[in-house]
This record gives sequence, C-alpha cells and structure tokens, in this order.
Amino acid sequence: MPGIQRKDLHYDLLVKNVRILDPEFQVLNDMDIAIQNGRISAIGKNLPGSADEVLSGKGLLAMPGLVDAHHHNAQQLLRAKPIDEYPMIWTRFLVPFESNMTAEDMEVSSRLSALEMIKGGTTAFADAGGPHMDMTALVTVESGMRGVIARSTMDMGGNIPDAMKCSAEENIRRTRELYDAWNGAGDGRVRIWFGIRQVMTCSEKLLRLTAEAASDLHTGMHAHLCEHKDEVSFCLTNYRMRPAAWLKETGCLGSNLLTAHNVVLSEEDITLLSDNHVGTVHCPRSNLTNHGFPKTPRMLEQGLSIGLGSDGAATSSLSLWDEVKVLRNGIIGYWGLPIFDPVVLPIPSLLRMMSQGGADAIMQGDDLGSIEVGKLADIIFIDVDQPHIMPTHNLPATLVEAVHAGDVKHSVINGKLVMKDRHVLTIDEEKVLYEAEKTMRDLSRRAGI
Ligand SMILES: [Zn+2]
Repeated sequence: MPGIQRKDLHYDLLVKNVRILDPEFQVLNDMDIAIQNGRISAIGKNLPGSADEVLSGKGLLAMPGLVDAHHHNAQQLLRAKPIDEYPMIWTRFLVPFESNMTAEDMEVSSRLSALEMIKGGTTAFADAGGPHMDMTALVTVESGMRGVIARSTMDMGGNIPDAMKCSAEENIRRTRELYDAWNGAGDGRVRIWFGIRQVMTCSEKLLRLTAEAASDLHTGMHAHLCEHKDEVSFCLTNYRMRPAAWLKETGCLGSNLLTAHNVVLSEEDITLLSDNHVGTVHCPRSNLTNHGFPKTPRMLEQGLSIGLGSDGAATSSLSLWDEVKVLRNGIIGYWGLPIFDPVVLPIPSLLRMMSQGGADAIMQGDDLGSIEVGKLADIIFIDVDQPHIMPTHNLPATLVEAVHAGDVKHSVINGKLVMKDRHVLTIDEEKVLYEAEKTMRDLSRRAGI
C-alpha cells in the first residue's frame, strides 16, 4: 500500500496465528486475518498493524460462516412435536401452529432461532416464510445475523385455512410492503425475497406475478420444490408437466430462484434446474426421514450448486453439522454402497454445500461463502484442540464427521463479533430461553396441539 507506513495499518479486528480453511478446502497454518469495515482486508503470515480488537487464533480453525439455506423461523417453538407422529403433520400441527402465531410469538421464536444459529456457527439463513416475517427481520437486525427473508405466499389448497391464504395480488402487495420496510436493513444484512410456498398452494397467476415482481425488484424467490411424490403427481395431473417444468412455464425458473429439498427429481428436472442456474438446497434430515434420498451425485455431475438447509427446528435442530453428517452417510449408503463407490460424495463437496453452495443459493456467492480478501467477513472459529477432533490425518474430513455446533468458539458476521468464547454478545440468552418456554406453552394451548 504505497504512502502508508506499516505501523499506520489499523483494523477493526485482527485474528493472529490461526488455521484457515481456504477456498479449496485445504488448511493453511499460522495465518492472520485482518477485518475492516465489514470485509476481509488482508490474509497472511505475521500481518503488520494494530486493531481495535485482537484475537488469538491458537487452537482455532477459521472457516466461512455456515449458511442455512432453507429455514423456518416460525417453527422454532414446534420443536419435536411432529416426531413419531402419523400423518398429516402439515394439517395436524403446522397449520394450527403457524395460523395461531402472534407477532410477539414470532419475535420470541425468531430470537431463539437466531441464538441457536449463532451458537452453531450459522451466520446466514434463508427463511422460506411464515407469519409476521417483519419480526424475523427485526430480530435479524438486532442479533447481527444475516437473513434472506420471504413471506409465505399461498392462494389455494383445500387444507389451508383462509387466514393463511390471500389473493395473488394481495400476496404480492404484502411482500412488496415487507421489501420496502426491511430490504437492506442492518447494513445490508437483511434481504427480502418473494416466497413460493410450493406449487400445490400457489396458483398459476400467483406464480406469474411473483416472477414478474421479483424481476422488477431484482430480488430472489424461495420455493419448496420436488419435496415429495404428491407434489409431482399434482403437477402432472393438473398441468401435464413436472414441477420444475411448471415453474419454467410460469417464468419462475432462473438464477434468482432458490429451491429447497429437490428430492424427487427426474434426469430431465436436474438438467432443467442446471440449465437455468437455479440455486438448489437439500435438507438432509428432513429429506431422508420423509421423502427419500436425493440424487446428489447426479446433481453435482450436472454442475448444480447445492446448499444445505435445516428446514427449521420442528423435527431436528438448526445444526448444519448434524445435517452434513446425515447427508454424507445417507448418500454413501444409498448411492455409493450398491456400486462400491466410497467417494460418491467427497468431503470438499460437502464442505462446499455448508458454505459457498449456500452463499450461491442466497445469491450472495460473490460476497460470502469463503475466506478471501475482499469478501464480507462472515467467519466462524472452531475450537479444534479437543480429543474428538485432534490429532487428525485430515482436518477437513474431521470437520464434516466429528465437529458439532458446540465446538464453535467465536463468530464474526459482517465484520462484527457476535459470539466470543461461546458468549453471544447480541442476545440475552437467559431471557430468551425463559420467554421461549412460556411462549411455546401459551401458543400450543391456543393452537390446540
Ligand atoms: Zn421447508
């Protein structure tokens, strides 16, 4: 930097002597990371300069913050309710629960969700939509999280109560309202997208208007796609085409579409999604226990970028560390084992799904997803000096197979420390846990679940 003396370099945050997981998923030792104005301004050995805050990286591994690319903040207080229950989960639990939520309930739910995400190393999420999404936006700003937030939009479907539905025009109007109020809030951490709950609950008119409005505002769309066979059957019966082709027909299939699940895909569907640069996301625990095994290896072969999502906390947790383990073991067991291919889904592909794949899916791949100079500083620090992690012959593989949410020590989002030594600096943990328990009880009573 000509004209600037080395001693004059001053950063917001400087992390010294840390291991770094680089963009090729190799580990670099004894590196420093300098952060200034929300971005990574330098990476190297023995970086000169000072900082407002200096962290020791001893015993830590820095890696990109995880992206939960399919989440439901509204279902945080539904935790474990649908477990070991018979169908229909949607009509018995989800619909009464979400339709009875007040704005205050949603605020508590979103705050508990933010707390769980930060403590587990998730730095960004994409919410597919629930009620009172303005509360999720508010909590995202306060908590320091990064969020891509959609309103759940539905205008048809026999088992959906009227309170959860509205006309196509009204759906667009309400999302535009949310966009005007919150898009870009929190120094750009909040993005508002359009929601397409799924093709069975969105009319052709709503799909077409959504595609037009999203293109008009240069924003994205978040849809559940090819989650289960009923959805494919519905589209074949009503439109004589499969869901992905139907989204193409209605103008929704493009690089600003994020599709969650992607389980029951035909070869043609995979090609269609790939040709249209759709951001795809798997939710492994949700998928493997409900819908089946996705064709992940084929999707990767076809050049699709894949992210990971928790699908909310209702049936599991928000830990992407647990999701990735289930995905690796499930896909190797299902696709690899019958053909004796132990590397059908290799470690770098899995680490990519947790980071860059998710960042791509939320249309922020140029700014997020890897630790590189110039990118936004969303970085987590894993405490690797522990007996279940070290020593190891292959730290990236150990990250996937042995690291858990509780191993994340510090978290930086948009250049700001939001968790230090596992203490979340932006949320009163004790208060949130107390309020969440009370809200879960009250809301469940009102919803009759
Ligand atoms: Zn979902």
